[in-house]
Amino acid sequence: LKSPYHGGHLEVIVGPMFSGKSEELIRRVTRAVIARQRVRVFKPLLDDRYHLSAVASHAGRTVDAVAVRDAAGIRSNLALDGGSETTLLGLPGGVLPDVVGIDEVQFFGADLVPLALELAAQGVRVILAGLDLDFRAEPFGPMPELLARAESVEKLTAICTVCGAPATRSQRLIGDRPARFDDPVVLVGAQESYEARCRVHHEVAN
Ligand code: ADP
Repeated sequence: LKSPYHGGHLEVIVGPMFSGKSEELIRRVTRAVIARQRVRVFKPLLDDRYHLSAVASHAGRTVDAVAVRDAAGIRSNLALDGGSETTLLGLPGGVLPDVVGIDEVQFFGADLVPLALELAAQGVRVILAGLDLDFRAEPFGPMPELLARAESVEKLTAICTVCGAPATRSQRLIGDRPARFDDPVVLVGAQESYEARCRVHHEVAN
């Protein structure tokens, strides 16, 4: 699989919910597997909506993934591959996968950034997929810095459920009403759902 980049690099895939980020990550990873490259995919443990051990798109395609608690979990999983030499940051020398994919990147902390950079420096192609914006349309987690540092950025759109225009935002609804700016990100017992919306039809209640 020919990459336009010399050696390791960062590829970021962003967009709102339902924009096909997981589909695109699965597509790139599947092609790398066909090219007989060593691939490892990670996702945060909290995203267990569909599968604990796979990345799944809304359309139903899946690829095997390791669920981890945080960036340190990725680090130790990769170190488990063996290899006696370790780099300063604790990664094994010479035994890293060719490709590391990470889904739902927005849920990782700021420490995902140095990990991604070290993997790239070690020659790994790192594919990072996740939401660029939260339900308030504010930049989400480590995404802004990853977007700035990536060699390649693909910004996908969904379809606005109100008007059919390209959707760039994720509308959070609680009991069919727009969520408020300071509603907690995790609402226990609430009837909540998400829809893709364009800028005009994205609403945040006060
Ligand atoms: P993401 O990872 O960005 O949430 P997925 O890859 O899981 O996206 O799902 C994308 C799929 O979701 C589309 O191919 C389509 O089948 C479906 N879908 C459902 N609602 C919408 C919508 N409003 N706009 C676009 N696709 C949608």
